[in-house]
Amino acid sequence: MGAVLAEPRTLDKRFTGIVKCKEPLARHTSLRIGGSADVFVMPRTVDDIYEAICFAKESEKPWMVIGNGTNMLFPDTGYAGVIIKLGPWFGRLQVCQDTLYAQAGVNLRSAIMQARESGFRDFDMLVGIPGTIGGALAMNAGIPEGSICDLTTKVKALTSDGKLINLTKDECNFSYRHSRFREETLVIVEGEFSLGKGKIWDGEELLRRRKVHQPLGIPSPGCVFKNPQSGVSAGQLIDRAGLKGTRVGGAAVSTKHANFIINEGGATSRDVLQLIDIVRGVVLKCFGIELKLELAVVNS
Ligand SMILES: Cc1cc2nc3c(=O)[nH]c(=O)nc-3n(C[C@H](O)[C@H](O)[C@H](O)COP(=O)(O)OP(=O)(O)OC[C@H]3O[C@@H](n4cnc5c(N)ncnc54)[C@H](O)[C@@H]3O)c2cc1C
Repeated sequence: MGAVLAEPRTLDKRFTGIVKCKEPLARHTSLRIGGSADVFVMPRTVDDIYEAICFAKESEKPWMVIGNGTNMLFPDTGYAGVIIKLGPWFGRLQVCQDTLYAQAGVNLRSAIMQARESGFRDFDMLVGIPGTIGGALAMNAGIPEGSICDLTTKVKALTSDGKLINLTKDECNFSYRHSRFREETLVIVEGEFSLGKGKIWDGEELLRRRKVHQPLGIPSPGCVFKNPQSGVSAGQLIDRAGLKGTRVGGAAVSTKHANFIINEGGATSRDVLQLIDIVRGVVLKCFGIELKLELAVVNS
């Protein structure tokens, strides 16, 4: 199935995925915010990803890759480029002995279930995180006690000039909610994870902890700020500054978890950015601590 796009450059007829023009990004983010992407593609193969990148380059448009959009804020004006969403077509998942192989579009929940079926509870650490393997690796997602990098042995990625490279864990430059994938134009295609060597997590208990402390079921991007190194969490600082419930338009600081900004209905990207500025300003004034963003904010 070829896909024809607006002149001057069309996606090659060999492109086998889905292409949409002017696709609302609010549909693809957990905050339910964001204007339209000029071009939105869901590749079926690695060749499709490369073709989408070439299309973007030749059309002189920016491009970026997303997973489930659960830690992203897009502008209200949308994205004047190509969004590459890795979904179920990048969903291969298997466990061989004590290694889990998962393509970038696999949901963390599926990885947890697959590992459990093979008798391993390592992935339970990530229970309740609504992202994909690709997004989790890029963000080095985790909880205070550990992150996905603790389980990672290798990552396969596509460079912007079409080469598939295999990176060791060290080459991924993982740090707290960060990796080289947030800085470089690399598309994570697959991850390899070691099972049975780390802590055995009680997934049910971790999920219970989330239900008690987090505003689940309301549109949000999870935690907005990274925890500072001072030892006090960003949520505690925001709470102590009396900011729970502060709102701008349809966006509010959750009263349940102060590091969550929620969309109470009709929130815009502008509302969220203004609220972020308010929170940062008040926390800086009260405690002299500059909060850094965990949320991936895309500029217009
Ligand atoms: C209710 C809720 C609870 C949450 N709890 C947690 C938590 O406990 N811990 C935690 O760490 N996070 C948490 N999050 C945030 C979020 O779920 C994680 O950061 C998750 O890993 C993001 O995955 P994603 O697929 O949604 O990535 P996206 O949000 O789509 O993308 C995030 C970043 O990764 C990049 N990216 C995505 N896929 C790829 C790829 N294939 N190759 C290269 N780059 C890629 C994007 O460009 C972007 O910069 C929570 C979010 C919500 C809504």
